Amino acid sequence: MEEPIRRAHERGLGTAIMGPVGGGRLSLWNPEQVRDLMPASVTSTSDLAIRWVLANPTVSVALSGMNTMAMIEENVASASRPEPLTADELQAVETMMERLREFARLYCTGCGYCMPCPNGVDIPGNFLLMNFYRVYGIERFAKEQYAKLLNGEQARVHDQRITGKAAVACVQCGACEPKCPQNIAIIEQLQDVAATLGASAA
Ligand code: SF4
Ligand code: SF4
Repeated sequence: MEEPIRRAHERGLGTAIMGPVGGGRLSLWNPEQVRDLMPASVTSTSDLAIRWVLANPTVSVALSGMNTMAMIEENVASASRPEPLTADELQAVETMMERLREFARLYCTGCGYCMPCPNGVDIPGNFLLMNFYRVYGIERFAKEQYAKLLNGEQARVHDQRITGKAAVACVQCGACEPKCPQNIAIIEQLQDVAATLGASAA
């Protein structure tokens, strides 16, 4: 994504980055796998996310949703730093991201373009739970929420409700995959979700 932003900047166009904190998901992140690489000056994962976006000199503005005064104050503090991240901190973040890529084989943005599934599977919702399990290391929570879907109940992550069916309900019709801008192998990934998150619910 950096390349299109850079090109826009070269042509004199401003760029606004939506959801720098991943719709709030990154604020829940518990980065066990990369804790040792987190820059010392970073106060939270939200702080890191916003500072990382603003450290890109070709970005014009970051648009972050805020629900409370505390969120506003934290974001203002993050955005007010004269230097969002130092060169060493940027390098540390790059190393963190490299390590995370080893965990995150699933880059679902939650855009929903693959929906609706004719069989009622909540595709981005299942992938969200899988990323909580695989990337954020919140394994028990992810399995508990997946079990709710299996029982026909709503799952909930932060302020997002997952109302459709569990991944195991996919009948592999293939309707969703051509619509995914991330070219995710949705069927294969849903099978992985069902096997991984469904294990404790059997
Ligand atoms: S392949 Fe599975 S998830 Fe995709 S539309 Fe068909 S049933 Fe739904
Ligand atoms: S279209 Fe792709 S990226 Fe978007 S929600 Fe569906 S699986 Fe995720």
